[in-house]
Amino acid sequence: MAKQRPETKAIRIQTAKTEQKEHSTPLFLTSSFTYDSAEDMAEAFADDSLDVNIYSRFSNPTVDEFINKITALEGAEDGVATGTGMAAIFATFMTFLSKGDHIISASAVFGSTHTILTKYLPKWGIEYSYFDMNKPETIAALIKSNTKLLYLETPSNPGLDIIDIEFVSSLCKQHDILFIVDNCFATPAVQQPIKYGADLVLHSATKFIDGQGRVLGGVVVGKKELIKQLYLFIRNTGPSMSPFNAWVLTKSLETLFIRMERHALSAMHIAQQLQDQVKISWVKYPFLPTHPQYAIAKKQMTNGGGIVTFELEGGIESGRKFLNALQMISMTNNLGDSRTIASHPASTTHSKLTEEERQSVGITPGLIRISVGLEHPEDILNDVLQALDKS
Ligand SMILES: *Cc1c(COP(=O)(O)O)cnc(C)c1O
Repeated sequence: MAKQRPETKAIRIQTAKTEQKEHSTPLFLTSSFTYDSAEDMAEAFADDSLDVNIYSRFSNPTVDEFINKITALEGAEDGVATGTGMAAIFATFMTFLSKGDHIISASAVFGSTHTILTKYLPKWGIEYSYFDMNKPETIAALIKSNTKLLYLETPSNPGLDIIDIEFVSSLCKQHDILFIVDNCFATPAVQQPIKYGADLVLHSATKFIDGQGRVLGGVVVGKKELIKQLYLFIRNTGPSMSPFNAWVLTKSLETLFIRMERHALSAMHIAQQLQDQVKISWVKYPFLPTHPQYAIAKKQMTNGGGIVTFELEGGIESGRKFLNALQMISMTNNLGDSRTIASHPASTTHSKLTEEERQSVGITPGLIRISVGLEHPEDILNDVLQALDKS
């Protein structure tokens, strides 16, 4: 058979069919698996590299199908799935960091990732340094003899900062540092960091990968020998993905490419229309030529993704009024859904931080983040415009 394109693999990769010859992928909702003999059972337990199902904390055919799809889409060798995106991130840190090690991370990372870096890792004698996504030239000076990992998200949340993955990966290779990219905002339909030298790529599958706001999930892909270490950590410590969630997610992947195309088309349209609005001081979207890293976005992304941010001139008060005036768009902290979602971090998720702390992670007073959904783009735009009027 001719080599399949990623769009096709996202649909056609399937765990071997059962004797029922089902067309759609089945759900193997079983916690354990059986053996034909005591010898088979002994063999399964003796060699943890055997491709045999023992117990669903270790492996499960439905979970494997989800992993196989993401692995193919990211152009990776192997992968492992977890119950949530945070479990994927935490398991990765715990597998590859030891007492006395140092990790370099972008300062603009997901809130709970920031908490792991600043609150938990130091407890186990692991130190961190932050760099500014907009100043990649400052990374080299942070590298120390005990630096083991470099971690970042591109585009970042909620600032949509973008960094040249190839530049960072060559720096990491020179210094023998493991380079990890959280590819949650782009998805493999839009960006494959491994192509540009990332060692491991991870996701919160909760976002665009599910894409319909139903289940939580996480996944890490990369080189076989790295995934083997991660797999053993996860198999023994237990943050494994549930087969049910894997079944939902593997079905979600069948529509990932067409969903991301529509998310991006609508997001681009909305970003363009908002640029001319008087109450908005700036609009940020990776594929708008005014984005500070537009050239890099064009190099490593196939479209601009589904998130648009903009700044309301009236600051915090306007942001609050804007959210309250929305008629259709949902107010929730999630993103990457078929339903458009708006958030105003300064008055909601990040209201406990000081103004200075918010500024340091790119959260300005009037920053609105729109996760553009799959509704008709004009209906989304109309709701944004009428709320803008009332802000
Ligand atoms: C949501 C999110 C996470 C955490 O994922 P969960 O599935 O909620 O645990 C990590 N990174 C990014 C960029 C996210 O948006």
